[in-house]
Amino acid sequence: MRALVYTGPNTLEMADVPEPVPNAGESVVEIEAVGICGSDQHAYHGTDPRRVPPLILGHEAAGRVISGPMEGERVTINPMVTCGTCRYCIEKRENLCPDRSLLSIPPREGAFAQRVAIPPENLVVVPEGVPLAHAALAEPLACGWHALRLAANSFVRPIGDARLVVLGGGAIGLGTALAALVYGIKDIWISEPNPARREMLAEAGPFQIYGADEEGPDDGTVPLVVDAYGSEASRTTSTRLAAPGGVIAHIGLAGGGAGLDTRRMTLQEITFFGTYTYTNDDFRATAQAIFDGRFGDFSWIEERPLEDGAQAFIDLDARSVRAAKVVLKP
Ligand SMILES: [Zn+2]
Ligand SMILES: [Zn+2]
Repeated sequence: MRALVYTGPNTLEMADVPEPVPNAGESVVEIEAVGICGSDQHAYHGTDPRRVPPLILGHEAAGRVISGPMEGERVTINPMVTCGTCRYCIEKRENLCPDRSLLSIPPREGAFAQRVAIPPENLVVVPEGVPLAHAALAEPLACGWHALRLAANSFVRPIGDARLVVLGGGAIGLGTALAALVYGIKDIWISEPNPARREMLAEAGPFQIYGADEEGPDDGTVPLVVDAYGSEASRTTSTRLAAPGGVIAHIGLAGGGAGLDTRRMTLQEITFFGTYTYTNDDFRATAQAIFDGRFGDFSWIEERPLEDGAQAFIDLDARSVRAAKVVLKP
């Protein structure tokens, strides 16, 4: 089959590779749409020690099952494979499973390819009429969905009443803002330095968008801050913005370390939590919300052939892509 193979730092090549070999009971899915994730870009730059070349990247995928259980179904893929038997899996917190594996992290090859093998428990049937390019984005959207569900647990009042500021308007930031609409939040702000991206965000939903030198919400007035960068600077901003009794959800992975004003957080009882991916239930709920049209019209995606995937990574590096998400079509 054809696949876009990561062969070394900043190098992707289309190549003929062996067909995926399903483990016992697994399905093989013919991929029709697969999103490029920020983590794919990190891997491409050679900065992800878990993803060693040669490797097929890509984990935000949808397609049609061509063999094994669910043959013939159109599906979106939950790329996180977990053991199902550990304490976390039994508690339905599968994202914390110590044996979790993900498409595109060895030993599992990724979905920038014509076909991929995956357990049928990880497949969600997509209704006819829902484009697979939209269904493929259940994965990144589920990350924001999960963050908001955890945040809601920390609130005294209904989360829908809260003002939300999202720091960073990439796919995870925008996905969180779109998920917030589904949660009933109306007062949503997104901070994004890239002007082309700000334009795109303004069209994607009823959000207030602001850049680095533009006026945003006042310090100390925001009950819910989602940090979709996870850098020292964004953590500093998060703690400044948070209202007394507020909540900061830290979802970005730009760099560990400093930035939090822990004295202010202590005196003002600000809750801070890290949030990683999604549970199986979050994934299914997000997929259902996509199918029901609750994530809108996906005007913020751009589709390209998988054959042109290497160029898409170059364009993303050059910041010449306006869309929040590039979806490749094998
Ligand atoms: Zn992703
Ligand atoms: Zn487990």
